[in-house]
Amino acid sequence: MKTPYQTNLIVLASAATALLLGLYLVRKQDNLTCNSADFLQDQPATTGNKHSKSANMAWRCSGRTNAELISNLYKSQLITSDRVRASMTSVDRAHYAPAAAYEDSPQSIGYQATISAPHMHASASESLLPFMPENKGARVLDVGSGSGYLTHVLANLVCGADGTGDGKVVGIDHIPQLTELATNNMRKSEEGRRLLDSGKVEFVTGDGRKGYPDAGPYDAIHVGAAASDLHPILVEQLRSPGRMFIPVEDAEDRGMFGAQYIWVVDKDENGEVKKKRDMGVRYVMLTDAPK
Ligand code: SAH
Repeated sequence: MKTPYQTNLIVLASAATALLLGLYLVRKQDNLTCNSADFLQDQPATTGNKHSKSANMAWRCSGRTNAELISNLYKSQLITSDRVRASMTSVDRAHYAPAAAYEDSPQSIGYQATISAPHMHASASESLLPFMPENKGARVLDVGSGSGYLTHVLANLVCGADGTGDGKVVGIDHIPQLTELATNNMRKSEEGRRLLDSGKVEFVTGDGRKGYPDAGPYDAIHVGAAASDLHPILVEQLRSPGRMFIPVEDAEDRGMFGAQYIWVVDKDENGEVKKKRDMGVRYVMLTDAPK
């Protein structure tokens, strides 16, 4: 016979176990289908604690408002730069994410595309930041621009939060409905309209694997979908110096779910190119345009 106290303890322990299991399964599911830091990675991210920590922090970083979401990412050190913090604070994610805008998780935007999780946008922006000075005419290419959210954040970094500084960002996506969606999303704010009307932000439809030489060379290139290789054409379109942030599918290292890693490709003043493998991630693939 168990005492009522013992029975209560058993019920409590079972409830806690069920809750933890539920959390684990939902988190795992989220990670398998979305653009986010890969918490299934056995190896810690090579850049240190910050990114390997990110998936575990994801839920804790969500907020009730845009300001709260960004503030929580900052408190958790998933954003460390004040410039990135200011830029992400000034772009309301609700203009770009159709649901759960202030959750630190990716969301579907249709056409088999997702708006990436805020911690991934923060990570990409921070990696490219040294090559994106404000009001210095920096040029940036955002490949697989999808919702347009990151394109807007990058534009704020190079043109300032009010969009009046000197700089240019091109967002390229191969689905015309998405370049239209991104444009419409950006038109929801006054400084978004200013960036578009002044031509400082341009959304173009095309195969991003070929880059967009018309507006290059670029100080920074962000690739928002996983590539099969490092795409030399994109590296060619980098300025000297310049940096590319690109997720690449690793053909050798295929775990149970395949493996992707961020690669950071730097071109120095003399045109010499250095590549460094960074954290494990999970992005949708760069593909041929649907027929
Ligand atoms: N940065 C975007 C991510 C969108 S998901 C965001 O956070 O909103 C990846 C995007 O890559 C999709 O919009 C998809 O349409 C686009 N894409 C896939 N293959 C492409 C290609 N070959 N050229 C250009 N865009 C591509």
